[in-house]
Amino acid sequence: MLKGKTALVTGSTSGIGLGIALSLAQEGARIILNGFGDSQPAIDAVKALGVDVRYHGADMSKPEQIADMMAFAAAEFGRVDVLVNNAGIQHVSPVEDFPVERWDAVIAINLTSAFHTTRLALPAMREAKWGRIINVASTHGLVGSANKSAYVAAKHGIVGLTKVVALEAATSGVTVNAICPGWVLTPLVEKQIVAKAQSAGIPREQAERELLGEKQPSLRFTTPEQLGGLAVFMCSPAGDNVCGVAWNVDGGWVAQ
Ligand code: NAD
Repeated sequence: MLKGKTALVTGSTSGIGLGIALSLAQEGARIILNGFGDSQPAIDAVKALGVDVRYHGADMSKPEQIADMMAFAAAEFGRVDVLVNNAGIQHVSPVEDFPVERWDAVIAINLTSAFHTTRLALPAMREAKWGRIINVASTHGLVGSANKSAYVAAKHGIVGLTKVVALEAATSGVTVNAICPGWVLTPLVEKQIVAKAQSAGIPREQAERELLGEKQPSLRFTTPEQLGGLAVFMCSPAGDNVCGVAWNVDGGWVAQ
């Protein structure tokens, strides 16, 4: 379905971003990966699906590096057809103790980076009369949780950005939507499970059960593959008139 199209997924060396990149690659899209850590396993996994892949290591908190990545994408593959803004970090702390530099980093990576990629990718999508911008927000783009002020602010912000750009692009053939996962067992959540086990003095498995029990009625994690499936739907003809939604995949978290 996506043969001949190029998808750029930020923060795709692990977790949800990698899951979405692999789902888009399965549909035939060329992939541009981004993110920190060892990129080779992600590159190899995409290559194994028989599509062209490139990697750019832009730090998504740095506007000039983001611009360089977008120029690289255009130089390598012509333009970005599917932009997935996924890179994100978490920091957990009461607001009065929240380290100022952590606030700035969460807002820069989880929100401002999507402004930069979007403004740089949109002109070529408009010209092609087709494009998809998919923002990986969170249930925390729809509801709050204590001790996550920067993350919840950034995720509500990206849901707002999604709606505005969807409206601005509504007649252009470009759709803009957000995916709002509940708990997904990735390195980002593993850190929170380990911290919970340590602070409560309980085994890791008990911490995992309690984490799910507090928020996610299905008591099951959402998987990166399931989120990849939703991204593929958003890229399909059936998704052509889906504009500006914030679609939760959360085992019932925000239904409560
Ligand atoms: P993860 O830690 O597995 O992946 C995050 C990715 O972002 C990695 O590839 C990492 O290298 C990259 N990254 C981090 N800082 C970066 C930077 N400055 N520049 C470039 N890349 C950077 O986490 P994940 O759980 O897969 O999270 C992906 C997205 O999904 C995030 O936006 C997160 O907020 C969101 N999300 C996750 C969950 C969950 O339960 N895991 C739930 C809702 C939303």
